[in-house]
Amino acid sequence: MLVERLEEFFSRAEEARERDYFYVSEVAKCPRQIYYAVKGFPRPPLDGQSARRLAVGDDVHRRIVGALFSMGVAVAAEVPIPPNPLFHGRADVIASLGGETFVVEIKSVHPYQFDQTTTKPKRDHYLQLQLYLHYLDIPRGIILMENKANQALREFMVDRDEETVRRVIADFTDLHRLIFREGKLPPVPDKSEWEYDQCRYCPFVEFCVRDQTRAELLEREIATPPAAGAAPLPADHPADGGEAGKREKTTAESDPKGLFLFDL
Ligand code: SF4
Repeated sequence: MLVERLEEFFSRAEEARERDYFYVSEVAKCPRQIYYAVKGFPRPPLDGQSARRLAVGDDVHRRIVGALFSMGVAVAAEVPIPPNPLFHGRADVIASLGGETFVVEIKSVHPYQFDQTTTKPKRDHYLQLQLYLHYLDIPRGIILMENKANQALREFMVDRDEETVRRVIADFTDLHRLIFREGKLPPVPDKSEWEYDQCRYCPFVEFCVRDQTRAELLEREIATPPAAGAAPLPADHPADGGEAGKREKTTAESDPKGLFLFDL
């Protein structure tokens, strides 16, 4: 009786909004997934349980930030990085410890991940912190993890890694040009560096499958040109134009609401 009403109360539509920049929190995300997000493709609504899980993460942040201020360690919270063409983001906390300034990133993590992450931080946490250290020009930071199941804490001290920062900024400069100047959909990525299968949790999986299917259709059309005397392709056919850039443009300009979807 109450469960259904609570599920309905917590569930909510996910905002879809176009933008021309990336979030620091997207640094380890699939580039193709980023494309659909920045282009404002619709996401499925958030169910009640997922919304409550996100709220737990917000509670962890509030509790730890409050404690760091009470301890006299935090000097600022939710600190925005300076304006730049690539990234928007806010560092959780700037802390002062022993006369040294640190960026502190607070992460609430699944118990399995917490148990797996004992010797070095998760890659996406590490990369996010590297960007905050770079943009805020602070040499060291701390990744502070809380286990969602039992509130155990673990921390990693991290030095700014200029080589990693250079590589990430170069990769995202390329991605920015591909998406915003050339209007192209990034290819399905090499998934070897992923810490988990992002496709399983991707809110845009139907669009991604649809676009892969269109790409395969296009390749087949190119490999098998129409016979002499055959009718020309219709103007809106994905193979019309015959090169990858046109295919991607067709995808980017399609109306996401009028899609046909595939069984996965
Ligand atoms: S389904 Fe997988 S490859 Fe496709 S956009 Fe999502 S995460 Fe990327």
